[in-house]
Amino acid sequence: MSRSEELFERGKTVLPGGVNSPVRAFRAVGGTPFFVARAAGARLTDVDGGTYLDYVCSWGALILGHAHPAVLDAIRGAAAAGWSYGAPCESEVELAEAVRRRMPAVEMVRFVNSGTEATMAAVRVARAATKRNVLLKFAGCYHGHADGFLVKAGSGVATLGLPDSPGVPAALAELTITVAFNDAGGVEDLFRRRGADVAAVIVEPYVGNAGFIAPESGFHETLRALCDRHGALLIFDEVMTGFRVAAGGAQERLRVRPDLTTLGKIVGGGMPVGAYGGRADLMRLVAPEGPVYQAGTLSGNPVAMAAGLATLRETERAGFYETLERRTARLVAGIGDAAHRHGVPVTTGHAGSMWGMYFTPGPVRNFAEAKAADTALFARWHRAALARGVFLAPSAFEAGFVSSAHTDADIDSTITQLDAALGEARAR
Ligand SMILES: *Cc1c(COP(=O)(O)O)cnc(C)c1O
Repeated sequence: MSRSEELFERGKTVLPGGVNSPVRAFRAVGGTPFFVARAAGARLTDVDGGTYLDYVCSWGALILGHAHPAVLDAIRGAAAAGWSYGAPCESEVELAEAVRRRMPAVEMVRFVNSGTEATMAAVRVARAATKRNVLLKFAGCYHGHADGFLVKAGSGVATLGLPDSPGVPAALAELTITVAFNDAGGVEDLFRRRGADVAAVIVEPYVGNAGFIAPESGFHETLRALCDRHGALLIFDEVMTGFRVAAGGAQERLRVRPDLTTLGKIVGGGMPVGAYGGRADLMRLVAPEGPVYQAGTLSGNPVAMAAGLATLRETERAGFYETLERRTARLVAGIGDAAHRHGVPVTTGHAGSMWGMYFTPGPVRNFAEAKAADTALFARWHRAALARGVFLAPSAFEAGFVSSAHTDADIDSTITQLDAALGEARAR
């Protein structure tokens, strides 16, 4: 038995499924998850000494790759000055200012500890501001695990093929209405019928929790216009896309200004941070300035703020996003070419360094079309790739990520390995 297998067995007796987040258990692709001993740059090393080129990158949080020296220095420096104060510190103000510089629509921001907390609080603000309760979301989009979002959710819910979660009161689930992503007509219909009840539309501007799905041109403009016409708020859940698909996130790339934005992942540089922000008049509703209550013992943690600041600073180097996007395009094209060579239908896409592929001829415009992909082939390909030292997200319904630590040579060797892995997966 490998050390990973041993740890997984031990883990299963004390942690549900042996993990602390469901997709990590490899249920959708089979096999035992490897346990990580350490990571540096673009590579993970497991407890058995295996190394993997990492395209998960802590689910997108690590845009600089693992243990980046500048972030490590910032973390060390902050930790040496004490790692939690329960009182305000300078780096909270600095990170808030950095976020606002990069995303002008985020006029004020509140830091929390996860993306889940951020979306939960943003919806609370939207409901308070509009005095309405209904939430409109899109099938396959994932906004964290709060009750109201576990309706046709993406990520682990989609990976495991779960029906909507037990434990969510029906009375709450009924307040969430779901429409297919890219279905502007469907949203219009819904607003025509329920417009006066809708507090907010929440959307992953580029879907990354059902695989990768790009918005069709005009889709977000339609959402913006419908929200304005009906007095609802538009929430861009940029937990994944923020500082990933462009310096200013999806809102910069798409040139659409949301009322509220939620952040996570990159904003904490791999430390547990989330944030919600937006129009100052809305954010002034948040306690202590306003009546909408939301608090956090460890929020604005100085070590986490330092990691986020150091990460954002590094991404401000000239050409940072252009280089990442070029490498990602090269990877995605390489996967497409390999699939064609093996006679496997494939649909690929990317925005910046966020990417995805489906084993289906496509097009993939929504979750229903994503589900037509060959997930059994994906599972075999995933296992073959892992054996060849490439770690892809262990689910056909998760996006992949390239970090600035991935070199052109890494990308090229990845394409070679993935090509061979596809041959093996096809042969079986
Ligand atoms: C990851 C993610 C979340 C949840 O963030 P957690 O930090 O895992 O709670 C919410 N929304 C989107 C779009 C995400 O990708």
